[in-house]
Amino acid sequence: MRKKIIAGNWKMNKSYDEGMALVSELSNMVKDEYHGSAQVVIIPPALYINALSRMTADFSNISTGAQNCSNHVSGAYTGEISAAMVKSCGGKYIIIGHSERRQYFGETNDWLAKKIDAVLAENLNPIYCVGETLEEREGNTHFEVLKTQVSEGLFHLSAEQMASVVIAYEPVWAIGTGKTASTQQAQEVHAFIRNLVKEKYNETVADNLTIQYGGSVKADNAAELFAAPDIDGALVGGAALQSRSFADIVKAMA
Ligand code: PEP
Repeated sequence: MRKKIIAGNWKMNKSYDEGMALVSELSNMVKDEYHGSAQVVIIPPALYINALSRMTADFSNISTGAQNCSNHVSGAYTGEISAAMVKSCGGKYIIIGHSERRQYFGETNDWLAKKIDAVLAENLNPIYCVGETLEEREGNTHFEVLKTQVSEGLFHLSAEQMASVVIAYEPVWAIGTGKTASTQQAQEVHAFIRNLVKEKYNETVADNLTIQYGGSVKADNAAELFAAPDIDGALVGGAALQSRSFADIVKAMA
C-alpha cells in the first residue's frame, strides 16, 4: 500500500519559540490520538529543522523537511542551503517547485529537475509541486501544463529513483485563497498524473507513488478529499500553523 503523507509547510512564518511550542503540542496530539494513520512531515523555516528533528526523534510517524534547496552540492552560493545540509539536520523531505518559488523566484522545470537530482543524491525525498494557474484552468490548458511540469521535472529519473518521489498537486488558484478544488477536480488530476507515470514507467511505480493534494486543505474538507482513490494525503499551508487544525487534518486520514 502506498504511503499516506500529511505535510505542513510553514512558509516564512513563526518565530523559533512559536515553532517549538507548536511542534511540542502537535507531537503529543498525533501520538495520543492518531498514531500510525499517516506520516506527518513538518516543514518549518530551514533554521528550525535541526531542533525540530531532535524534538520529534522518538516519534516514528513524524519527520521534518525543508521548503527548498539548492541544485548545487556546495560552494560559493550565498544564502543557499544544500540537500546535504538538510540531511545533516535530520530532515527527510524537501519541497521542490512550490508555486511561490516558481512565481517569485523564477524556478523553471529544468532548474527544478536539477534540484530533484540534488535531493535524491542525498537519499532524501523530494515533494515535487505541480499545479495550474486560474487562467490555465479557465483556458482548459491545465492538463497540458501539468504534463509538462511532471515530465520536465521528473521523467529523466529511473523507476528506482521515482520510488523516493512524492508529487503534490497544488492548483495555484487554491493556495491560500480559501478555495479548495472540489474532490472531483482533484481526483481527476491525481488520476491523470498517476496515468502519466504509468505510461512513462509502469503500473507498479504509478501505484506506489504518493500524490498529495494541496490548496486550502482544512479539517472540514480533508476527510472527503482523502476518501478519493488517488489522493494520498495533503500539503498544508495555513492550517499547519496551529497544532489543533493540523492534527485534525491528520485525524481525517485515520
Ligand atoms: C501551500 O502553500 O502549499 C498551501 C497548500 O497553502 P494553503 O493550505 O494555505 O492553501
